Amino acid sequence: MEITVAGTGYVGLVTGVCLAEAGHVVTCVDPIQEKIDLLNKGISPIYEPQLDDLISRNKKSGNLFFTTDYKDAYANASVIIIGVGTPENEDGSANLTYLYTVARQIAETAVRDCLVVIKSTVPIGTNDKVEAFMREHVKQGIKVEVAANPEFLAQGTAVRDTLNASRIVIGTESKAAKQLLTEIYQPFQQPILTMGRRSAEMVKYASNDFLALKISFVNDIANLCETVGANIDDVTKGMSMDSRIGDKFLQAGIGYGGSCFPKDTKALHWLSEEEGYVLRTVKAAIEVNEKQKFKLIKKARKDFSSFAGLKVAVLGVTFKPGTDDLREAPSIPNVRLLLNEGAKVHVYDPVGEKNFQKIYPTEVEFTTSIEEALRDADLCFVFTEWPEIKNMPVTKFAENMKTPYVYDGRNCYSLHAAEKAGIHYRSIGRPAVN
Ligand code: NAD
Repeated sequence: MEITVAGTGYVGLVTGVCLAEAGHVVTCVDPIQEKIDLLNKGISPIYEPQLDDLISRNKKSGNLFFTTDYKDAYANASVIIIGVGTPENEDGSANLTYLYTVARQIAETAVRDCLVVIKSTVPIGTNDKVEAFMREHVKQGIKVEVAANPEFLAQGTAVRDTLNASRIVIGTESKAAKQLLTEIYQPFQQPILTMGRRSAEMVKYASNDFLALKISFVNDIANLCETVGANIDDVTKGMSMDSRIGDKFLQAGIGYGGSCFPKDTKALHWLSEEEGYVLRTVKAAIEVNEKQKFKLIKKARKDFSSFAGLKVAVLGVTFKPGTDDLREAPSIPNVRLLLNEGAKVHVYDPVGEKNFQKIYPTEVEFTTSIEEALRDADLCFVFTEWPEIKNMPVTKFAENMKTPYVYDGRNCYSLHAAEKAGIHYRSIGRPAVN
């Protein structure tokens, strides 16, 4: 089937590429010329495992195309999947500017009936509104249907998640739309759930907000563990053996970041207030996370009266391992605080450097190895548990740093190893070491 995808970000690009891999002929549209130029050379503008290979393969086999020319791409398209960003407005609501720009572009250009599929995460009721908007703006005689098809991939495993999705949710009341989308996803052989558009939109928010809540709950318990002398590692191990709880998303740390959890919790909370209902659990998840971000620096302040003039090593800056994405990464405000106090910050991250450099072009020193970042440092913060950071011998801190004061926001190292290595080690929800 021929499919057009609007947006070549983490969702649009991975979706388009995986649909091409499944045998469809896919054209991806993005207004950013630089991205399209890279893609046309077979290079992914984002870091995502397996993506480069799939782009090259499907370009070569002639079923994957990239363009900035939306007119050409939308005019005769029968299915257009929208995967553009829906970032946060200042008040916490979802910003639908990009979505409506695409809706307008489709309405202006479509010369045949088409199905518009909204994959972007959008507030409940948006699919209805976009369909009404299309009906009002599209040329006479052309029928545009809108179906919800929220995305559940996680960055860092986006290709794997798309090719092996836990479920495909389709929100539509239309038989034709359901049939078309079932056909599109048939090669993936994944469970397909069909429901009303509003329910489909809610599945996405409820899923993300539940995961955010789980993280904030564990962090809340971790903070209490510190004050009552318990160890969150033991606590979560004990909890996770209950199959009703499970072992996923039970890792204590300095909170969630990324382009989804922060904005999706705020957007649903905002929407609930608009509806006159206070979503207390989600509100609590947001509040806990806001405080959690600064948990490590608070610990460091107990050991250092000021960071002025100190060399600070920062290991990991992306919001999680496996991605180059820095959106809402806890590293950003923490590094800002350190710089404002006059610290000399030396950063190591295996793939996040380029994006971090856009935020801190001159104030931060970038290093090419963990050892280089640690060399002669007075203290170190671990913000991202990249495998090479998590799996390195903990003795590296004492071997390389001037004074091995280590603040670990992802509980990477065993307390026993830290004690044996003689480092001053502070982590989240676990007893202080040395
Ligand atoms: P992104 O910012 O990485 O990508 C958005 C892309 O859309 C950009 O390349 C941008 O240039 C492009 N764009 C903007 N205007 C356009 C237009 N008029 N026509 C075509 N393209 C246009 O965003 P993302 O992370 O891929 O997220 C997209 C949506 O999917 C959001 O609603 C997000 O909440 C949701 N989502 C994201 C993830 C994730 O892990 N990133 C997972 C599930 C759902």
